[in-house]
Amino acid sequence: MTFLMQPIKKLADFTQQLQDGMTGFERFLEIMDIEPDIVDKTDAIELKEVKGKIEFHDVSFSYQNGDGTVLANLNMEIEPGKTVALVGPSGAGKTTLCHLIPRFYDINSGEILLDDIDIRDIKLKSLRKNIGLVQQDVFLFTGTIKENILYGKPDSTDEEVIEAAKKARIHDFIMNLPHGYDTYVGEKGAMLSGGQKQRISIARVFLKNPPLLILDEATSALDNETEIMIQKSLEELSKDRTTLVIAHRLSTIKNADEILVLTSEGIVERGNHEKLLNEGNLYAKLYKSQFKNMA
Ligand code: ADP
Ligand code: MG
Repeated sequence: MTFLMQPIKKLADFTQQLQDGMTGFERFLEIMDIEPDIVDKTDAIELKEVKGKIEFHDVSFSYQNGDGTVLANLNMEIEPGKTVALVGPSGAGKTTLCHLIPRFYDINSGEILLDDIDIRDIKLKSLRKNIGLVQQDVFLFTGTIKENILYGKPDSTDEEVIEAAKKARIHDFIMNLPHGYDTYVGEKGAMLSGGQKQRISIARVFLKNPPLLILDEATSALDNETEIMIQKSLEELSKDRTTLVIAHRLSTIKNADEILVLTSEGIVERGNHEKLLNEGNLYAKLYKSQFKNMA
């Protein structure tokens, strides 16, 4: 593509994303200029009632411009409605793994299944409609608070927007602004704090109400009080839906049904909090060191 065409393509892509009701992740990709060339197969299917089972079978992945394999022969499964937590050192591939589920990149080998269907056989739009993503860097666009929440599901009513904002614990804050829901957030949400932007992005996902939820270090950039508040909204959000969560603070993922410890060697430990603590390996060490630092 020529230099001049690029901005036009981006604008067209962004308009399409708005129509698809996508959340901040795609906006993030757009800003980072890493839009991959993934297209639907001619016979790709539309998902109906999604239960939300996710399976990785021998998944290997490396970035085209990267230096080496990020994930090698990775296997994992999340049962519908359950929560799996990923922990591990920076650079282990946690965010990459999250990006593979909505197909921001395609894998090199193996398969990723959603409800027993290879995600490459599903229409991209249909796949992404069923996934809610919350991550550390929230990208709001210039516009009103209401428009930014509506991004999650553009055809929603005002009542639905308010309901979502209440669940995300941002409604009271919005009502205290001079123009309420019609307040402009400024360039990229400059008028708001990190915690407020985060809660707007959570409201988007409540509005979207997807069966699958991915939380990538969603609360790590916040102060303690804000984190506790957001943690409560996220707990509510993940209730009864399949959730993959990555968190720095291990206290926030203690209740996960399963915890996977991911390092450059792959998944080196798996089990619930009690089990991993008893085993006394990497998870136990990470957990104890965090506990000591907080005391
Ligand atoms: P984590 O989230 O566990 O910190 P990441 O998934 O962000 O790890 O990164 C895993 C590895 O992939 C790192 O070595 C990182 O440098 C590399 N990586 C991440 N994103 C890209 C990219 N867009 N292009 C090339 N390499 C990348
Ligand atoms: Mg990461």
